[in-house]
Amino acid sequence: MTIKKSEIRQMPKIDLHRHLDGDVNAKTIFNLARINKTPLPADNSRDLAAYFKNLKNTGLANLFRDGFGLVTSLMQTPENLATVAYEEVRNLFKDNIIYAEIQFAPQYHTGESVYYNHGKRSRKNSYEEIIKSVWLGLKQGERDFGVKTNIIVDIGREATSEIGIEVAKAAIKCIRYNVVALGLATDEADFPPERHKQAFQLTFDTELRRSVHAGEFGNQLHKNILTSINDLKADRLGHARIVSQHEDLLQKIKENNVGIESCPESNIFTNLIKSRHEIGIKKLLEEDVRISINSDDPAMFGYTLTDTIYRLCKEEAWLDAKGIRKLQINAALSSFLKQEEKKALVGWINREYNIDGSWNEQTD
Ligand SMILES: [Zn+2]
Repeated sequence: MTIKKSEIRQMPKIDLHRHLDGDVNAKTIFNLARINKTPLPADNSRDLAAYFKNLKNTGLANLFRDGFGLVTSLMQTPENLATVAYEEVRNLFKDNIIYAEIQFAPQYHTGESVYYNHGKRSRKNSYEEIIKSVWLGLKQGERDFGVKTNIIVDIGREATSEIGIEVAKAAIKCIRYNVVALGLATDEADFPPERHKQAFQLTFDTELRRSVHAGEFGNQLHKNILTSINDLKADRLGHARIVSQHEDLLQKIKENNVGIESCPESNIFTNLIKSRHEIGIKKLLEEDVRISINSDDPAMFGYTLTDTIYRLCKEEAWLDAKGIRKLQINAALSSFLKQEEKKALVGWINREYNIDGSWNEQTD
């Protein structure tokens, strides 16, 4: 492998699978905690990173409850949501990400968080108000940093199907706030996709597209992938890390032109895979599957999209600048942008990466 991390950082990149509450950097966490008077389990960014890492080592349930629980407790007012969204665009800019689809589940931001019992219960925010607040922060970020984003509104799948339907309705109403898709996130082991079939059906006759976490963790990865495609009509699958190992899934994905939002660094962090090789990215590219490389929860898990691609290159010796370009073009093509916007993005990537596969360091 000859490609350097600094070169990957300079390359224009796309992130299609990035959670707002998984990318709040330490500085923002400390600032919001000070404003909210929320006690934190650490008083510097190194100890905070160690806290998140330690949670992971005690189990994913702890990471969800105390890691994401802590961060979302700071995202319970329109102002704080806008701040986090704005800072998210700064994070994208710093990593030279030129386009991202940011996802979050409004149900975690209604002003009722009781993390640490900090007692700062604000008025219950409506789902639409929450989505609008995030949109305002992202728009301000786009103006200041020049990075375009769109929003995927998630249902946290442990919610009842009634709440899922409410979230879907809010997502549809908020298309004017750059909502491009309905998503399904969190624990697929205990809450398989069929639980929210009705919510997804509401989007079938709308402009909204669909992105479903499936094939990430649990014992029914194969079944969840099929259900997500057949019943929820997923346009893209989050993770879907087993597709290359099952011929029937591979065919299904190809027939339906489903994009795969691979998140290799996240799968390593959460101990779901031992080696990035298990995902079979080379095979999927050879089969013309629209697979892209994404970050998932970069700040919380302690890496960037650049780190994700760099570590993948270290393990997959065949992956050069040409391969990285292909992965970015895949991301552009499977994004939920409009046709003409996709074309412009592909043009941008092709201009920035040399055709022969070597990386052109000129960045103007
Ligand atoms: Zn995810």
